[in-house]
Amino acid sequence: MLQYETHRDSLTGTEWIETRMRGKELLTTHLLNKGTAFTYKERCELGLLGKLPAKIETLEEQVTRAYQQFTQYKNDLQKHIFLNNLHDKNEILFYKLVTTHIVETLPIIYTPVVGRAVQAFSHQFRQPRGIYISYPDRDKMELILENRTHPELSVIVVTDGERVLGIGDQGVGGIDICIAKLMLYTMCAGINPYHTLPIVLDVGTNNTQLLDDPLYLGWRHRRIVGQAYDQFIEQFVRTIQRRMPNTFLHWEDFGRDNARRLLERYQNDLCTFNDDMQGTAVVAVAAILTAMARMRTQLSEQRVVIFGAGTAGVGIADRLVDSLKRQGLTEPEAINQVWLVDKAGLLTTDMNDLLPFQRRFARIDGKGQGLEQVVQEVRPTILIGCSAVGGAFTENIVRLMAFYASRPIILPLSNPNAQSEAIPSDLLSWTNNKALIATGSPFEGNVAQCNNAFSFPGIGLGLMAARAKRLTDNMLWVACQALSQCAATEMDAPLLPPLTMAREVAIKIATALIEEAKREGLAQIDPKLSTLEALQSIVWEPYYREIRPHPKGR
Ligand code: NAD
Repeated sequence: MLQYETHRDSLTGTEWIETRMRGKELLTTHLLNKGTAFTYKERCELGLLGKLPAKIETLEEQVTRAYQQFTQYKNDLQKHIFLNNLHDKNEILFYKLVTTHIVETLPIIYTPVVGRAVQAFSHQFRQPRGIYISYPDRDKMELILENRTHPELSVIVVTDGERVLGIGDQGVGGIDICIAKLMLYTMCAGINPYHTLPIVLDVGTNNTQLLDDPLYLGWRHRRIVGQAYDQFIEQFVRTIQRRMPNTFLHWEDFGRDNARRLLERYQNDLCTFNDDMQGTAVVAVAAILTAMARMRTQLSEQRVVIFGAGTAGVGIADRLVDSLKRQGLTEPEAINQVWLVDKAGLLTTDMNDLLPFQRRFARIDGKGQGLEQVVQEVRPTILIGCSAVGGAFTENIVRLMAFYASRPIILPLSNPNAQSEAIPSDLLSWTNNKALIATGSPFEGNVAQCNNAFSFPGIGLGLMAARAKRLTDNMLWVACQALSQCAATEMDAPLLPPLTMAREVAIKIATALIEEAKREGLAQIDPKLSTLEALQSIVWEPYYREIRPHPKGR
């Protein structure tokens, strides 16, 4: 049984919590623990007298101390572990700290540092979080999901850990990415953390280093594939639909072959989203729209080369085609503006190992052409990297592009930094400072980061506030526009807003999305509720609510 209940005064909006817990139990429950901020009254009523030093602190004073402790760590992984420990001990303090110091803490919680945490998962493991559903336990899936801490859910982030960031198969360690994404939903969009759930579907791993590691914590088995895998996913989705209807399902870091297939299979059945495909595409297209506005030109006049035709690359290509069609191009005309290059070179119709979602972009001519040759032939105005091949945008390629394009738009999106297709300082020097750049990983200097933190929190917030039946192309398009409008207008300013604006961006995207959901008849909220009221009804803030003993005692 849940050990606490949240109440809200309908007139004043004041919230308080009633609990049956007492003493130490409260100090070790991250959702209720206030540490030194428990008031004298609470200390008396909740069995906490003498369990804390005398001074009663404010949340702000606690943040000052926690920030001091955070800055004492010199190593980013240690900082990540410190923040996660705080998250496990006092959730309100954690969210107040990370939102107050968002620029410093976001890359530690999320990319790029979370990648290292995922790799170190089994060695650095301290405390479980979320739900682990391993394949051998599939017949107990309902029971496992009933064991979640929060009965009422708004959002689930689920992974099978097959393709994490640019670091490949990480098995059960992928749960750390789900935890990080949910932290960002709360940090950037104010999603109530008590309504979130990270889930890893542990279907094994093909990473031999993990399989050979005696400390590996996941199911020690090669990945299950084919029908067995599909049935397991089907069972999972239907269980969520049955037991937790209206929960928004965010797919994260599935393998290239599964990511697209699963989204296509379920996107018309429930409100669902794949961040690697759709979130990435929204940020990349928004950055491009900003560049178009500054250069006073149209997307339809651009030629786009995308290097790396996987989940992110084809996701961006699809969104570009959708945007081009909105500018009046026919589908074949739109597709004709985009060239995709993968390991075997330009995608062409005579390649017989193309994945179904790549076929749309296969060209009749150009067999075997590598990136440099494609750049030479196509003379792109936009070059995007989603290959995880560090340094792939060589000096030759970039100079060639700059020879033809007056302001080349270059987005090396691969993560982590070592895998970036180019570094911004090189791109600027090779193009005489003409390149308009946005990177996947954070780099020094005044360069936009195509961080999905700018897209998925706002998209999720809008869908949850509207209780939308599903996510549509129109909604993704309004999200691209809303994000682009948040960027500065000066020619050489970064193509995306700074991270300090993450919350503002999320609200702007969510507002546009709710309105679009209403327009399309997909919102399931009271039609009398204004967009602002819909947002206000779900946005959560990190502050301490009064905790009272439950009237019925323990
Ligand atoms: P993916 O595995 O689905 O796709 C990668 C593609 O690159 C594959 O099709 C692969 O065949 C291709 N590739 C590999 N080596 C190549 C080579 N030498 N030449 C050409 N193509 C090659 O992975 P993904 O999800 O698409 O992610 C790709 C990269 O993009 C990762 O580094 C990821 O971190 C990054 N990414 C960045 C953002 C962002 O900036 N917001 C978002 C998502 C993904």
